[in-house]
Amino acid sequence: MANDIKRSGVNGSVADEDIIGDNHISTNTDTPMRSDAFEMSNADKIESIQKDFTSIMQTLGLDMTDDSLRGTPKRVAKMFVNEIFAGLHPENEPKASTFENKYQYQEMLVEKNIVVYSTCEHHFLPIVGKAHVAYMSNGNVVGLSKINRIVEYYAKRPQVQERLTMQIVKHMQKAMGTEDVACLIDAKHLCVNSRGIKDINSSTVTAEYGGRFKDKEVKREFLDYIKMELEK
Ligand SMILES: [Zn+2]
Repeated sequence: MANDIKRSGVNGSVADEDIIGDNHISTNTDTPMRSDAFEMSNADKIESIQKDFTSIMQTLGLDMTDDSLRGTPKRVAKMFVNEIFAGLHPENEPKASTFENKYQYQEMLVEKNIVVYSTCEHHFLPIVGKAHVAYMSNGNVVGLSKINRIVEYYAKRPQVQERLTMQIVKHMQKAMGTEDVACLIDAKHLCVNSRGIKDINSSTVTAEYGGRFKDKEVKREFLDYIKMELEK
């Protein structure tokens, strides 16, 4: 699979883009997990994280007897396990329900502007953006909301945007039984926008093209639908 990874400048203009080094890409698209990742129940994880987060807040010097702070560790623990990192648990994987393409629609289907809320695994700060997913049916079609759910499942993990993009494509390819799947994500990383170099305008674009989407014309059609510029 080909993938284009670039960090765009102000307003995502192509002229300002420069390529992120290839070494930024992991060869394995799977989220690195320990083999005993799910031996502990969710309830036990919440209890453990609650203690750990209390310790972090205490180390920062916060008075944990304060009414406003007392509930924070439990709130954060529940949010990690049940919400923003719920996509780590295989039990939350969206079921692959495809159905026969009765309309014989052979053209490209693009589901665009899918909202992405994820978390940068390097800083544990939000990644916020849009995903555009396309496929060409080989006889099977998928409910459109299913695509949103696939994006959401992989977004709800500590992530790097490149891996998120590839995981969505891989999952769609398996579910649809075709290589002809593409995904492009344009997202802001709060670790870049709010701290460090504090570049509030930059966003990161990642794209993964499978099967016929590697073809220049097909790629262009997809990018035209989502109004992105195709370099070269
Ligand atoms: Zn980060």
